[in-house]
Amino acid sequence: MSRYTGPVCRLCRRETAASKTGEKIKLFLKGDRCLSKKCAVERRGTAPGQKTQGKGRQKVSEYGRQLREKQKMRRYYGVHETQFENYFREAARVPGQTGKTFLQLLERRLDNVVYRLNLANSRAQARQLVTHRHFRVNGKLVNIPSFIVKAGDVVSIGERSKKSPVFESNLEVARARHAPEWLEWNDQEISAKVLQLPSREQIDTPVDEQLIVEYYSR
Ligand code: SF4
Repeated sequence: MSRYTGPVCRLCRRETAASKTGEKIKLFLKGDRCLSKKCAVERRGTAPGQKTQGKGRQKVSEYGRQLREKQKMRRYYGVHETQFENYFREAARVPGQTGKTFLQLLERRLDNVVYRLNLANSRAQARQLVTHRHFRVNGKLVNIPSFIVKAGDVVSIGERSKKSPVFESNLEVARARHAPEWLEWNDQEISAKVLQLPSREQIDTPVDEQLIVEYYSR
């Protein structure tokens, strides 16, 4: 299945319109725009498309809720359907809470780590920077966005890449914002160490992973 290349704000508007509580669901797919007043969800939280206008909130089945949650999380991390399902199968094999392990696996992807370190303004940009060979893990080049980091790994930017224009501004942002607690930023080395695997409390992804476990356990 190919990656979705349409207007991404539609995806946030759809999730917001489907939200039971009426809360605004932001998937943060457009970099700094997501934090500004220009964000489409801030301006209008209605579902995209003319057909849905004026119909009000539709009744959603349990299956519908599980499906929506699954789609939301998949889009949040920008992962293909098959790969997403593979993460779930892998999480289900590990003893412990499947939902938490599943979320942890997605969070440990190298593109997500780059985004969490604020070295990219979106996961899409992080993915591109990784494939363009800008990052090292434990000193070795890694250009696979789905690479899973583990505790103790050190993620750094290649020496030549540090002078690249894209990192001039991104590094400023990375220094100004805080990385999550499970990652330790080293400003001298311009690198970050994975201190531990992220706990559920340290992952701010707005999903109910239990619904996704139920979706795949049908
Ligand atoms: Fe979603 Fe970002 Fe678009 Fe807002 S600006 S609707 S958060 S992608």
